[in-house]
Amino acid sequence: MCIVGAGFSGIAAAIDLRRAGVTDLVILDRGDSVGGAWRDNTYPGCACDVQSRLYELEVAPWPEWSRKFAGQSEIRRYLESVVEIFGLGPALRLGTEVLRAVWDGSDDAWHIETTRGDVVADVLISACGGLTEPLTPEIPGMSEFAGRAMHTARWDHSVDLAGKRVAVVGTGASAIQVIPAIAPVAAEVVVMQRTPPWVMPRRDRAVPAWYQRILAASAPAQRLAREMSSWAREVQLLSFTRQGAFRSLGERLARRHLEAQVPDPALRAAITPHYDMGCKRILISDDYYPALMRDNVIVTGALDRVTETGVVDADGVERPVDVIIWATGFKVLEPPLVDRVVGAGGETLADAFDRNGMSAYKGTTVPDFPNLYILQGPNTGLGHSSVVLMSEAQIRYLVPAVASGLVHEVEATSLDGYRDSLDERLAGTVWQQGGCRSWYQNDHGRNVALWPGSTHGFARMMRRFDPQAYRVRRPRSRKAGHHVATG
Ligand SMILES: Cc1cc2nc3c(=O)[nH]c(=O)nc-3n(C[C@H](O)[C@H](O)[C@H](O)COP(=O)(O)OP(=O)(O)OC[C@H]3O[C@@H](n4cnc5c(N)ncnc54)[C@H](O)[C@@H]3O)c2cc1C
Repeated sequence: MCIVGAGFSGIAAAIDLRRAGVTDLVILDRGDSVGGAWRDNTYPGCACDVQSRLYELEVAPWPEWSRKFAGQSEIRRYLESVVEIFGLGPALRLGTEVLRAVWDGSDDAWHIETTRGDVVADVLISACGGLTEPLTPEIPGMSEFAGRAMHTARWDHSVDLAGKRVAVVGTGASAIQVIPAIAPVAAEVVVMQRTPPWVMPRRDRAVPAWYQRILAASAPAQRLAREMSSWAREVQLLSFTRQGAFRSLGERLARRHLEAQVPDPALRAAITPHYDMGCKRILISDDYYPALMRDNVIVTGALDRVTETGVVDADGVERPVDVIIWATGFKVLEPPLVDRVVGAGGETLADAFDRNGMSAYKGTTVPDFPNLYILQGPNTGLGHSSVVLMSEAQIRYLVPAVASGLVHEVEATSLDGYRDSLDERLAGTVWQQGGCRSWYQNDHGRNVALWPGSTHGFARMMRRFDPQAYRVRRPRSRKAGHHVATG
């Protein structure tokens, strides 16, 4: 049994599978430590944007969060502690990149080629994350730039921004964290905005010591705090899935936030969004707008091209800069492994996704890919709450199937029915009708990233594994059981 990825999802899967008796497992990760996104994203200001209370595993509650929204290093330390507490160290193979995984029907096993030898396993769990591979757009002239350039997800800590002129390309979730963090040290920050985001107040604060003590002393209090945070997030969902009062209330709050923080009418006009709130990711920040108000920060239009010495915006204005920061997000439509996993029919997962419009049964399984489970698969992302809850629900679903030792392959008809019901639910949502393009959508405008319901609804759907949706059989060349062999 092989898990690829040692972030939140891979760690959670390993813990639950072991508890269910699946002890013969390895966790492969190409990185040199655990943590996934929280190992790779080290840009100044990096933090979660759902309450820390929801950004922890149910099996590993953490009363010690120092802030309402924990920072990157604290989340990374948390994940390292979880690995230690649950004794996962011996199962980890770090610095091990999966190059190819092929299902072999003759022995009913995944044959996995890695940078450190081969692995054969009865089950493959892809826990490679959705926001994993940094996306840097192809912009004319970028190869001629003589200064330094880096993506937020691959921050180069050898670049000292003090006194430098810096262009930040993009105004998404990473940009609005990094801009306030670097503006006080840089000589100038040019914010290159294609579409302004909707920004809500963040209201971050330190968690008082007395509250941490209560949570540490009482497991029910801990569970209650998590559940309350989760229900508070679910309310926001209504503004995505229903037109009318909820959405306009959200927009009113965001506009008020903008007006309170940005008195300059020209700047305010330039950063006011003109699409329905929620259509793109809603951001939360208390210091983004104040950062834009600084004398050394300029907001321009989108980046048009790069020259040897600077950046040119959509109006043709050139500005000299020393450093370009690509805050341009991730390859959500090309998640890791999809072009490396080959199913029973010889087709890659990427080809299967091309054919089926990037869909997976319950976001987790795909016809022709027996015993493959994808955590954070298609339509399991969220615009309103913690995706850790989604991975946990997926893991609860798959554990009995994996523990059975049988071969499970989802029926094509099961996927068709599931996709139809998903499309019906998506039809009335802001992601399909909000008047914007976003990274949630594929080339046909279909939202392939987000789950169109509540986390509680998803958990209900995933509560029980449903073998009737699958072709189920005993493995051919070995007894039912778990199996991993490395060589
Ligand atoms: C800056 C940032 C902030 C975020 N904030 C939030 C938030 O506040 N709330 C929220 O819900 N979500 C947030 N997310 C989304 C985040 O991706 C998830 O919350 C979560 O971290 C995903 O965990 P994961 O284990 O599924 O994937 P990841 O953490 O992405 O881990 C995937 C792992 O797979 C490994 N891997 C990939 N390909 C291979 C391969 N071929 N071979 C071996 N190993 C491989 C990678 O090295 C990585 O360690 C944020 C993401 C980013 C980037």
